[in-house]
Amino acid sequence: MQDVVEKVYEQVVTRNRGEVEFHQAVHEVLESLGPVIAKHPHYAEGALLERIVEPERQIMFRVPWVDDAGQVHVNRGFRIEFNSALGPYKGGLRFHPSVNAGIIKFLGFEQIFKNALTAQGIGGGKGGSDFDPHGRSDAEVMRFCQSFMTELARHIGPSTDVPAGDIGVGGREIGYMFGQYKRLRNSYDAGVLTGKGLAWGGSLVRTEATGYGTVLFAQSMLATKGESLEGKKVLVSGAGNVAIYAIEKAQQLGATPITFSDSSGYVVDEAGVDLELLKQVKEVERGRVADYVERRPGARLVTGGSVWDVPGDVALPCATQNELNGDAAATLLRGGCGVVSEGANMPSTPEAVEAFQKAGILFGPGKAANAGGVATSALEMEQNAGRTRWDFATAEAKLTGIMADIHDSCVAAAEEYGRPGDYVLGANAAGFTRVADVMIAHGIV
Ligand code: NDP
Repeated sequence: MQDVVEKVYEQVVTRNRGEVEFHQAVHEVLESLGPVIAKHPHYAEGALLERIVEPERQIMFRVPWVDDAGQVHVNRGFRIEFNSALGPYKGGLRFHPSVNAGIIKFLGFEQIFKNALTAQGIGGGKGGSDFDPHGRSDAEVMRFCQSFMTELARHIGPSTDVPAGDIGVGGREIGYMFGQYKRLRNSYDAGVLTGKGLAWGGSLVRTEATGYGTVLFAQSMLATKGESLEGKKVLVSGAGNVAIYAIEKAQQLGATPITFSDSSGYVVDEAGVDLELLKQVKEVERGRVADYVERRPGARLVTGGSVWDVPGDVALPCATQNELNGDAAATLLRGGCGVVSEGANMPSTPEAVEAFQKAGILFGPGKAANAGGVATSALEMEQNAGRTRWDFATAEAKLTGIMADIHDSCVAAAEEYGRPGDYVLGANAAGFTRVADVMIAHGIV
């Protein structure tokens, strides 16, 4: 790392003690900026780097709610409004017991550059709570969401900050939060949240967008080598929104996804995942992966290890951060994996990324490969603003075009800074320069 960026990184570690995921995300971006700053030293002037690693605003709040038995619980809510150079803060809400300030900060930081890559005029933010929706009734989830929104509503708005879903936040939660926002504000601001239901301002393809985009990114990377996904064995982790629609798009492109997982274990289905059954178990019944295996002869449930122990051609990590470590990367490489496209945010540890890059395989980092979700959220905002609704084919064509542009921007930036084929450098450099140029234009703010 260059001296100038090293100093900024050390300050981040000192000022944000214990926030290890945030340190990791900042390190990965700053490390890539060496060649950018060597070529354009003005990016290190005016404390631009120091400003870009400091959130514009961080909000933490109490979320009290009452369960079905009448017991009172207190969770913690977060919203980090990280950077508004390019537009209103935009980024999801995560409900998971592991959520803390450092995790939300890492996600918000990644979001700045991801959103810049989409070229759609959206800033970076993220939020959530340590609330665990697993095993909670609809009524409990509703009361939690209403309490969470009661505080959040004063900080967000269609031109200020536009949250969406993430782990543990899907259409049900967005619905309860939108209902409460509308009630508090007495205003039908459809553009205040994305990921809405189709009957009340949602966009076709938003549900599918992140998973589809991750696979489209893998397809674009393969195309640079004259290859495609056709006939390839695909390993997917997770069994949520991103994983399910990554499996769907991979199947549409002629590949065979053979794995998925949740926190109870992973499933190997060598015949190819039965997508209808998986959707029934996960989307309709909100069940566990074991429920799939019970109804699918030939599929097996494994409760130790990870999906990365299974040999395959393409890996799509779609669960959570740091789910793929250096050992898993070595196992994947031994098993013949030649492509990794990250559906989750920062799922590969630094050791895993290094192993993939050393081996020279195609590696698409999350901030580029999973940007299809937020890109389609921006399309949802566009439709809300125009009070219009596009059909599936129109929205999907726009998503496909945006993913191709993101891929090409990464390729061009990697070439410009002397590391052709390095999508990590390409994504960080292309995203950073777009945000940095506008921050310079806006002055010291
Ligand atoms: P979901 O809640 O729909 O699904 C998450 C899946 O990952 C579940 O199968 C869950 O299993 C598993 N998982 C989550 N945390 C853990 C953990 N600590 N250990 C093991 N398994 C875990 O979330 P999404 O599919 O929306 O999000 C998945 C990833 O994609 C996240 O990293 C998210 O930030 C990223 N992402 C999502 C976008 C979106 O549009 N939804 C956009 C861009 C990125 P279990 O149910 O057992 O916990």
